[in-house]
Amino acid sequence: MSKRDRAWLEIDIGAIIHNFHIIEERVGGHTTVMPVVKADAYGHGAVPVTQELEKAGAGWFGVATVDEGLELRGVGVRGRMLILGCSAPQRAREIVAADLTPAVMSPAEAHAFSQAAANQPLPVHIKIDTGMCPMGVRHDQIADFCRQVRDLHNLDFEGIFSHFADAGLNPEFSAFQIDNFRQAVSVAEQILGPFKWRHMAASAALLLYHDKPFNMVRPGISLYGAVEAVTGDQRPPLKQPMTLKARLALVKRVVPGDKIGYGCTYEVKQLQHIGIVPVGYADGYSRHLSNNADVIIRGRRRPMLGRVSMDVTVVSVGQEADCKPGDEVVLMGRQGGEQITVDELARRAGTIPEETFSCMGKRLPRIYQE
Ligand SMILES: *Cc1c(COP(=O)(O)O)cnc(C)c1O
Repeated sequence: MSKRDRAWLEIDIGAIIHNFHIIEERVGGHTTVMPVVKADAYGHGAVPVTQELEKAGAGWFGVATVDEGLELRGVGVRGRMLILGCSAPQRAREIVAADLTPAVMSPAEAHAFSQAAANQPLPVHIKIDTGMCPMGVRHDQIADFCRQVRDLHNLDFEGIFSHFADAGLNPEFSAFQIDNFRQAVSVAEQILGPFKWRHMAASAALLLYHDKPFNMVRPGISLYGAVEAVTGDQRPPLKQPMTLKARLALVKRVVPGDKIGYGCTYEVKQLQHIGIVPVGYADGYSRHLSNNADVIIRGRRRPMLGRVSMDVTVVSVGQEADCKPGDEVVLMGRQGGEQITVDELARRAGTIPEETFSCMGKRLPRIYQE
């Protein structure tokens, strides 16, 4: 049990598969679901997560970088793999050799892929900027782009896609983006012919927008059990696969006037006991949670005292300590009747579940439930 002696993540891949099937049902049989497994599957472990999703029927995966794609090919993942971000032109040969599918967003990139693709057409997806800006061909310059790449050899323009700026909270801007997408696709199809794949929706949009010009969706955060922007009836019964646990390291008595942690931000007011939890910001437990989070021990919430340090967090365990070293501490997840969700932790840290998940530290062993 050495993996469970300090702090660790328990990951229930069955919950991810459950979420995948819920998303498949939501979007219906004519829409292909491409699970997004970038950033180590949002901290859940890209290799085992992708392998299980592939067994569950997923045929496409979204990654952010060439190296993420190569890692998955290296362990035998056979499904199609779209690199959602920019790929350096120097990596074009590796992309071709590993049968990865790049996004293209400039004529220079298209040129590099065309040269690398030697014998057999390389499928590519054109990324369009429909109003969010960072990446993609501007939607109003799509005709120009298509004319510049039309005659390149060995490229198969099989897909076209875009990304929403604020799908959950800004329906007006999303409608504007959908409109730009429809128009850009129609212009591009006049020059390059029909696209097999058109896609735009990540988690929030696939749950909220039903009248859609897409036949593929790209869920990330919803697979991992959270979609902050979607509430009420529209939020499906997703399961949270990740639990952050630790073993209580020490229980100590403190007296009024004692200070706790760096910066002396907490002063003890009454005689009580504190518990030392061996988890810190180097594990991905944000320093922004300082003096502002609970953990669960023996089924009860315990408030944090003082700052989160690199390796340690301190909690109050009551006037008469009702727990002891070795007890299991839940920092995110359920224990007894209590639950700390990723949404709660993210909100308290002033961020979003995507960041909370993907920043979970390397030094936490991932333990997969059977
Ligand atoms: C990360 C990413 C996604 C997944 O987004 P979620 O909001 O986590 O579902 C989809 N598409 C692109 C292009 C992305 O970069």
